[in-house]
Amino acid sequence: MNLILLGPPGAGKGTQAKRLQDGYGLVQLSTGDMLRAEVASGSYLGKQAKEVMDSGGLVSDELIINMISGRIDKDDCKAGFILDGFPRTTPQAEALDSMLQDKGLTIDHVIEMTVDDDAMVTRITGRFSCSNCGAGYHDEFQKTEKDGVCDKCDGTEFTRRADDNAETVRTRLEAYHEQTAPILTYYREKGVMESVDGMALIDDVTEQLNALLG
Ligand code: AMP
Repeated sequence: MNLILLGPPGAGKGTQAKRLQDGYGLVQLSTGDMLRAEVASGSYLGKQAKEVMDSGGLVSDELIINMISGRIDKDDCKAGFILDGFPRTTPQAEALDSMLQDKGLTIDHVIEMTVDDDAMVTRITGRFSCSNCGAGYHDEFQKTEKDGVCDKCDGTEFTRRADDNAETVRTRLEAYHEQTAPILTYYREKGVMESVDGMALIDDVTEQLNALLG
């Protein structure tokens, strides 16, 4: 089963993709995570992407399309994948269609997580993750059980994304409305769009997704 999760930054795509990954044996393909790994490794690709990511803009379609195409070819994607953060522009959606056709693959579900934009800034600026295992938390909505200790691995170091500050979040939301929202129409017109209420509690969103996926 191959899925696309759509929605603005902060909608909960990453959180839900991790749960679906565990629940259905799928691989989460987050273009944001891939780019952050490239930046951390100091690669040429990472150097190209860093400035744009820090400003909240979108990295070039060509770079992203090549990166995701190579990733889908890896063996671990054979059991199915969840696209999280891709496609993000109409050219990316079109390139995805033709690359899937070339690879003999199809998308089984395109799911939009609908959210209220005003809530996204609070959601994003409060989030942090364990530096050791990557478990995600939030200052207000998902605190660690013990202060300063990761629930999953007992790690005591946490990180916040460089682009999760109020100013950059606004640019990212603008980029979403200007460049990504048109692809909602693209998938709606194809008649394949499903949606879940991304404002619901995390567990309730997972239940809604499970109901769609069967
Ligand atoms: P995310 O983790 O999905 O919020 O992505 C973080 C940043 O990586 C975005 O603000 C963009 O600068 C870049 N990025 C991630 N995915 C894409 C994409 N599909 N197209 C263009 N830029 C992307």
